[in-house]
Amino acid sequence: MSTFTDKEKLSILSDLISIKSVNDDEKLVSEYLNKLFSKHGINSKIIPVGGNRTDLIAEIGSGHPVLGISGHMDVVSAGDESQWASNPFTMTERDGNLYGRGAADMKSGLAAMVIAMIEIKEQGLLKRGTIRLMATMGEEVGELGSKTFATDGTMDDVDALIIGEPSGWMIAYAHKGSMDIKLTSTGKAAHSSMPDQGYNAIDPLMDLLVKANHLFRNTDKNSQLMGPLSFNTTIFNGGNQVNSIPENATAEINIRTIPEFNNPKVEDTITKLVADENKSGAKIDMDIYMSQPSIETTGDSPLVSIAEEIGKKYYGSDVPLGAIPPVTDASNLLQSKPKEFPFIIFGPGSDSVHQVDEYVPKDMYLAFINIYEELFTGYLNN
Ligand SMILES: [Zn+2]
Repeated sequence: MSTFTDKEKLSILSDLISIKSVNDDEKLVSEYLNKLFSKHGINSKIIPVGGNRTDLIAEIGSGHPVLGISGHMDVVSAGDESQWASNPFTMTERDGNLYGRGAADMKSGLAAMVIAMIEIKEQGLLKRGTIRLMATMGEEVGELGSKTFATDGTMDDVDALIIGEPSGWMIAYAHKGSMDIKLTSTGKAAHSSMPDQGYNAIDPLMDLLVKANHLFRNTDKNSQLMGPLSFNTTIFNGGNQVNSIPENATAEINIRTIPEFNNPKVEDTITKLVADENKSGAKIDMDIYMSQPSIETTGDSPLVSIAEEIGKKYYGSDVPLGAIPPVTDASNLLQSKPKEFPFIIFGPGSDSVHQVDEYVPKDMYLAFINIYEELFTGYLNN
């Protein structure tokens, strides 16, 4: 039995994709969901986080256990829209796939969670406990939306968490952390024929980055579940004229961290490299402007086993268990939960995330609505 027809399920996803919540304007998504929920007798609350940006919280049922479910409402930029085979903000079906920005990451996961909640409520399928949807803003940049839920008490009584990020046919209970760091080197300009009168800002920065490459890429620290840490300089700028000694150089670095080489250890390591350069006359400043820890739970909980069982039923064979590389809102939401906390990332998607012609297979999207209904009730009712 279904409250919505497939056509209605597709039109909800299509509506969400047509809302251009590109790193902003999650308020429009919240308002859409708020209306949809209220049509079906579910209360939801829009939480302002500044500007046109909001979180949304919605709940059905009461008491413990409290199952937290979460998805983000923002998407990344579509990039050069002329490269897309169809308009990124008009959901388009081709060969059984649904194309559009956010089709995979993660308006399909969000829509599937919302539809599952409504169907569970309308059909009276929940016998015990609470399902609490935490829809977040700003997941792609800064993760401020989940920070709000982690600090305003919303997560305090949550007993288990499902994030609907696009894992596809895989169940993850761990992911790497991430850090963005900017290094600014200041030197002194001079004519390049008289370099002694200046100080080359590029030299010490280059020296530091070469040392850091060596150090971070040759470490023996490795996570069995997540693999090695990754370190990359992703932006480098310096100088402005070929015959002048550069007085400025900047580099930006992204590091994907693991529990064995975590964010504080990375910070220590780079702080020392900076101090070494500065001791020999450089002037390098370090700014860590984003730092999200890795998340590693034991994966040993009824939530994981129920998800495996239901996943297998819909996928047709065993769904692999493990870790995914990208950071999710779990970095914030689970910050004060123990390692044993029941947690999974499980949601519809494909490997087209953040790319041109992003898509979700139509069958997978529709299957996940059923998967979520069985998973939410299977976990709470038993
Ligand atoms: Zn995402």
